[in-house]
Amino acid sequence: MATVSLDRVRKLYPNGHVAVDEASFDIADGELLVLVGPSGCGKTTLLRMIAGLESISSGTVSIDTRVVNEVAPKDRDIAMVFQNYALYPHMTVAENLGFGLRLRGKARAEIDRRVSEVARLLELESRLDARPAALSGGQRQRVALGRALVREPKVFLLDEPLSNLDARLRASMRVEIARLHRQLGATMIYVTHDQVEAMTLGQRIVVLDGGHIQQIDTPMNLYQRPANLFVAGFVGSPAMNFLRGQLRRDTQWQLDMAGALLPLGELPAQASALQAWLGREVTLGVRPEHLQPVAAGNAALAATLEVIEPVGSDVFLNLRHGEHMLVARVPPGELPTRGSVLPLGFAAAHLHFFDAADGKRIA
Ligand code: ATP
Repeated sequence: MATVSLDRVRKLYPNGHVAVDEASFDIADGELLVLVGPSGCGKTTLLRMIAGLESISSGTVSIDTRVVNEVAPKDRDIAMVFQNYALYPHMTVAENLGFGLRLRGKARAEIDRRVSEVARLLELESRLDARPAALSGGQRQRVALGRALVREPKVFLLDEPLSNLDARLRASMRVEIARLHRQLGATMIYVTHDQVEAMTLGQRIVVLDGGHIQQIDTPMNLYQRPANLFVAGFVGSPAMNFLRGQLRRDTQWQLDMAGALLPLGELPAQASALQAWLGREVTLGVRPEHLQPVAAGNAALAATLEVIEPVGSDVFLNLRHGEHMLVARVPPGELPTRGSVLPLGFAAAHLHFFDAADGKRIA
């Protein structure tokens, strides 16, 4: 397997659009790294530059310390699985799997050996003689993955490989890919716009927005210490709640939201970082699981319950606090009625603070 390094990689399209700017990161041997971000953030462009399908405007891409900027895709020892995997309809599963090897002039015996190995790994052995039209969506997806696997490349690049599948299949293929990654110990770069897929699959995640890397971290760190407002709002579902106001301190910390004072408590963990923001505009972030109905005497704010969304294991309470919409995630059970005004509180330790001007994390 292999390491991959990007050093200040930039893509300027001929129309003047900078799709990726100053992207630098290293992928360790055997790592599964996920590139995630909203549509148009530049993730496909980045993956295609690593694959050699798109030229690099400046910066370098290295595979195993060798700069590959000018190396043709076929000589980079990578295999790519696309969103719109096209299987050859007139070929059987075995022929589809072996096609890339045949093209490379491999011997019949070796092709057969590798195809049967991969078919066993992906549980496609009983379907080797079937044509794509006779396969289920999940089986077709496995064949597409298998075509990459038979080549035993140094690096796997996967571009939204599960986006054509329904929700249930996607969930089971996600587990399949995680299992395969563990089994093969392969270096994989996986592109998705789905933050749940990113969080469950990635050992580390690169969050992109507008062609810029916003944060590179483990799933837990992204969730618990988002580097800025974009990452805070993108990672987690339902999204983090945001309240904006001026930071004050009296006997305790407060957020002054146009005259309405939101008590924030003692904030022992965040106090030293917040000191410099006294009197300035900040954005307070609270995850839905940390915003909870409390006894009226302990409330930090009150909000009107507008919509109740039960999702089985949890219930999402959608609440209005002035012009802000907030979400609280509560366990199922006896629920307040729609239209009621709920006293809400949060634990100081779980509050996030961002600079309202540039969105960067303060504490
Ligand atoms: P999606 O999830 O929708 O595929 P993405 O994050 O993969 O999006 P890219 O396809 O990498 O995004 O595109 C990044 C930006 O570059 C977009 O704004 C896109 O419009 C632009 N772009 C892509 N290809 C070209 C091109 N050939 N010429 C000019 N601009 C392009």
